[in-house]
Amino acid sequence: MVDGLVGRRAAQVARRRERSAAEPDHDCPLCPRLVAFREDWRAREPHWHNGPVPSFGPTDARLLIVGLAPGLRGANRTGRPFTGDYAGDLLYETLTEYGFAHGRYRAAPDDGLVLDDGLLTNAVRCVPPENKPTTPEIVTCRQFLERTIAAMPRLTAVVTLGRIAHDSALRALGERPSRFPFGHGIEHDVGAVRLFASYHCSRYNTSTRVLTPEMFKAVFARVRAYLEEAGDSPMSPTA
Ligand code: SF4
Repeated sequence: MVDGLVGRRAAQVARRRERSAAEPDHDCPLCPRLVAFREDWRAREPHWHNGPVPSFGPTDARLLIVGLAPGLRGANRTGRPFTGDYAGDLLYETLTEYGFAHGRYRAAPDDGLVLDDGLLTNAVRCVPPENKPTTPEIVTCRQFLERTIAAMPRLTAVVTLGRIAHDSALRALGERPSRFPFGHGIEHDVGAVRLFASYHCSRYNTSTRVLTPEMFKAVFARVRAYLEEAGDSPMSPTA
């Protein structure tokens, strides 16, 4: 019994270490172009977050949602993924509807919104100019996505928002993207994890009707159904 307790504590300590290793330093120096962009915006808007945006949600979640990168006036300003710009409106509404969040989303990190059984992160943690990270930046930042995945002992499902997030998540899971093509609504079994691909919930995609709210919610309905089948759910869905 004592051995079991010691083992559980050791596992908790190891997970805490993994979680902190999964978050880059606020002054992470690894991508010179993004560092220069960040410094420029720190000078222009000293009260903004202007740094790598940490993941949001519990690491013991079964669901990981991977976006592309922080929006300049959204997550880069507020410091929470998808918070403060249009993409967050649809994403948080959908997460709440399908039981992955509770509380009221008010587009601010102190709004009290809580994620349930879901962790939200980005393939690239720093805001890129024009929302376009380069390939070397995606590759460099993948180490933090890999560590995020390593810190999630119950990971069962991954939602990828857009092709870049899809391909980076696959590589972080140790797979080649060519084996698991991207397409909205496509599902792949990648080892023990079910990967659900979705178009990104950006203002551009929704205003052009490339992605409708119905299409987006259908992905999360499938995720919820899959997790219900998988069992071991910490809470029931509200939709
Ligand atoms: S994008 Fe990632 S690797 Fe590059 S500077 Fe930001 S946190 Fe560091």
